[in-house]
Amino acid sequence: MFDHILALYGINQQSSSIQPFGDGLINHTWKIATAGANFILQKVNSDVFKTPEEIDENLLLLKQFLSKYHPDYLFVAPVRSSSGLSLIHDASGYFRLFPFIEGSAAVNVVTKKEEAYEAAKQFGKFSRLLADFEASKLNITIPDFHNLALRYTQFEYACAQAEPERLQAARESIDFITAHRDIVETYKQLVKDPNIHLRVIHHDTKISNILFDANQEGLCVIDLDTVMPGYFISDVGDMMRTYLSAASEEETDLSKVSVRKDFFDAIRQGYMEEMDSVLSEAEKEYFNYSGEFIIYMQAIRFLTDFLQKDIYYGAKYPDHNINRAKNQIALLKGYLAIKTEVNNEQL
Ligand code: ATP
Ligand code: MG
Repeated sequence: MFDHILALYGINQQSSSIQPFGDGLINHTWKIATAGANFILQKVNSDVFKTPEEIDENLLLLKQFLSKYHPDYLFVAPVRSSSGLSLIHDASGYFRLFPFIEGSAAVNVVTKKEEAYEAAKQFGKFSRLLADFEASKLNITIPDFHNLALRYTQFEYACAQAEPERLQAARESIDFITAHRDIVETYKQLVKDPNIHLRVIHHDTKISNILFDANQEGLCVIDLDTVMPGYFISDVGDMMRTYLSAASEEETDLSKVSVRKDFFDAIRQGYMEEMDSVLSEAEKEYFNYSGEFIIYMQAIRFLTDFLQKDIYYGAKYPDHNINRAKNQIALLKGYLAIKTEVNNEQL
């Protein structure tokens, strides 16, 4: 499979080593070590990304802008093949090659608040440097990805269609979600507000999408497939969802799901060091809302999938998605408690 692809880049497979690399879940990733340089080869998951060409167009537009206005910024863009292609489409799928960032390491779980700070700073820097790029020029690689109003409607539909047994098992979670639909109302207000801007947003700010250097400082942002126009609350909220608790969304012992206030402070500090001068006053008002927006949305998505018999996420065991929904609801409860504390501090 590789010789044909690598040959397009002038790389001889015989004199290279090819190893599966990293812990990415969506695409297939390999490290290609050659005598001259190292690369990352990725096969795009075209079940998730229906139009990889549109991702490629986005990366090219961003690269052009950044190399003109911020040439020192480490933007990990695809390498071009000998014939000038940055995305290869053949019978086995879509492929692209990136320069391997030497001396970098990915972190899979946030254990130190310094990691949260560094990552938030990198994601903030990314949106700051692209603040003057016209976000609407980007293709929307996953339509309605963070459209909470739509997710809520889909949840209501799933409730109406669900089998009684699943409905019964999900009752408490459904009641919690329904009781907190003010979170959806806030989102609807936000999207109508002319002072809330569509920006270039990463939309997948988990910690493994930052590369760190040997001093544990953030080097760059990677995994740019979901970069598209959006609201800053998506990036901040996804960091809150994935960095604040020591336990992951898979944890079923809910006593382990709790929110680390010092990690919240680290995210805010890192992000605002970059974005304070960019965000409008109206946007800043929504900073604390970010976490509940994304955590609530993820709870809805797991719950909806449980009600729809696990068609989207799949399930490794029968109650997998209802357990994930309960986990996110526990996280949301922790988050809302911290938010009250933070709001009081900010008064
Ligand atoms: P996800 O599950 O986050 O969607 P993915 O399948 O889209 O992941 P990436 O996040 O792009 O894949 O890459 C997977 C891993 O490969 C990263 O976490 C990192 O460890 C490594 N990696 C990716 N690109 C590079 C690079 N240019 N240099 C060094 N390592 C890289
Ligand atoms: Mg990734």
